[in-house]
Amino acid sequence: MAYAEVIPLLTKKTIDRFNKYIKKTDSCWLWTGRKFTAGYGMFEIYDLNLGKKRKTTSHRISWMIKNGTIKRNLFVCHSCDNPPCVNPTHLFVGTQSMNLQDAIAKGRFQNIARGRQLIGEKNNRTKLTIDDVTAIKVLNSRGMSSLMISQIFNVSENCIRRIVSGHSWKYHAAS
Ligand SMILES: [Zn+2]
Repeated sequence: MAYAEVIPLLTKKTIDRFNKYIKKTDSCWLWTGRKFTAGYGMFEIYDLNLGKKRKTTSHRISWMIKNGTIKRNLFVCHSCDNPPCVNPTHLFVGTQSMNLQDAIAKGRFQNIARGRQLIGEKNNRTKLTIDDVTAIKVLNSRGMSSLMISQIFNVSENCIRRIVSGHSWKYHAAS
């Protein structure tokens, strides 16, 4: 996926605006503003690199407010595995593949895959939930091949391609 580097103009005014969307709990700082489909907070900043406004993830901005700008091929990952969290102490920098391996290691996607298998055995047909579709889109956006995703979710590669290209898919509530 093409990815332009974001160099945000972090003025005091921008940081004040950012802080208004944070609800602090004992551990995670939850983003209360708009969110991307995968659950990450969305924040619009003036990008010095592009010379115009653009939207980026809130946790990335939070990391930059605390630590400075970040190279474009590096991801800001959550140690708490909570997408809307912007607590800088819960964030660490990794490569794209580290980010993906981290998510898989934490079992989020393995659990979904296991759930899929159980549903498949019970009803002898494949069902995808809204959470599955979200996870499929996240995995795809992080560079995982449709073949690999199809194996995780036990559906056809064609089905994965239809989902990531935004074509309609049949939703059945998991029973
Ligand atoms: Zn957190």
